[in-house]
Amino acid sequence: MTKKEIIAVDIDDVLATNAEGFVEFSNKRWGTNLVPSDYHDHWAELWGVENHEAVARADVLVKDGVFRSYNHLEDALPVLSKLSKRFDLVVVNFKGLFKEVYFAGIWDEITNHSAQKGKGDLLKEIGAHYLIDDQIKHCKTAAEHDIEALLFGNYSWNRAEDLPAGVHRVSNWRGVAEFFDAR
Ligand SMILES: [Mg+2]
Repeated sequence: MTKKEIIAVDIDDVLATNAEGFVEFSNKRWGTNLVPSDYHDHWAELWGVENHEAVARADVLVKDGVFRSYNHLEDALPVLSKLSKRFDLVVVNFKGLFKEVYFAGIWDEITNHSAQKGKGDLLKEIGAHYLIDDQIKHCKTAAEHDIEALLFGNYSWNRAEDLPAGVHRVSNWRGVAEFFDAR
């Protein structure tokens, strides 16, 4: 039996409605007036606070289990179930929290080259052939490692006139299905 190709799937705002849950919690807990389209993963900037305060808040988010309470994007399931017959599916979580706080250590290093390389290496290690992710930077890194990337969703944070070679935009899970149907 030939080995199946691997699709790596991001969680936040691909499988789960991260931005929605995040701003809802933030508005309640810290009295912010955020809407989902305000969301981006540089939290200190998003909240307009110092890094140490952002880290303290991140701690609250984790302890309250906010991430576990996010809704999933409901049309993902039938598409993933169909794709699982042809592909191996791997979940990768490029959540800002883990990448910036624990791995890279510094919030400001979103464009840090070694951090970017780390993600590409991770995908290579997984042996991924495809990545589905809502962040342009992750799709770009994947494409640089010859992994075809599907830029997921039409979100405020992933608008782009021109996409790098190897990065394809899909608006939703139907778009994901159509992309792989055409392969
Ligand atoms: Mg994401």
